Amino acid sequence: MKTRIYTMQVTSPWYADTKFCVPDLCPNCGVSNNPTNRIEGFFNSGNSCILALLSHRCPSCGKYHWTLQNLYGNKQDPEMLFVYPSVQLTSMDSKIVSLSPRFEKMYHSAERSENIGDYDLAGMGYRAALEILIKDYAVQFTNESKDKIAGYKLNDAIAHFYKNEQTAQVSADVVRIYGNDYAHWNQPDQFNSEEILTQLKAYLRIFTSWIGYQLMIANPPVSREDKNSKK
Ligand SMILES: [Zn+2]
Repeated sequence: MKTRIYTMQVTSPWYADTKFCVPDLCPNCGVSNNPTNRIEGFFNSGNSCILALLSHRCPSCGKYHWTLQNLYGNKQDPEMLFVYPSVQLTSMDSKIVSLSPRFEKMYHSAERSENIGDYDLAGMGYRAALEILIKDYAVQFTNESKDKIAGYKLNDAIAHFYKNEQTAQVSADVVRIYGNDYAHWNQPDQFNSEEILTQLKAYLRIFTSWIGYQLMIANPPVSREDKNSKK
């Protein structure tokens, strides 16, 4: 989740000009967030840091959301720890969920990580979600054994199953290669983990849509062979 950093004037000298975060979008209505903010309580967890509970009232929907943050006065940027209510998780095509319930679970785990700013973990999670979906799909729609499918590295699975499917191959490769960048120790220079995640998710959406089309074609609601459709 994108956040913006604001500075709040507070009376105590230590906390003067305290920097704090606000979620970019209101978690209740999704509109660009420009809320009224208040520190509702805090716990002094050390000389340089307080753990603070803040309320934020969104002027668009009038509802409150709350955040838990580590604040460092004006010395360094705050850390967002928790947002309530959490940003809504992406709802998935029901056909894809019944093919691969674990894909949905992993995708949402990655999304929760992204929402609190753990972009590396999110990137790895989206890549893991892709691998689960590719393998669950292969179990259903190829003649290969589960053991054989389990043994493919993601790179080999994509090359093997989608060699004649450009959309699936290209989109899955983007997710795989960027996903590796999140996991690997030798991350590329100037790697912008937040921006790359937006691209990775766009290609993952292309891939899941492609799987969705395949599932629709595999199970059409009516067909030539269907007696009821002979007209
Ligand atoms: Zn709102």
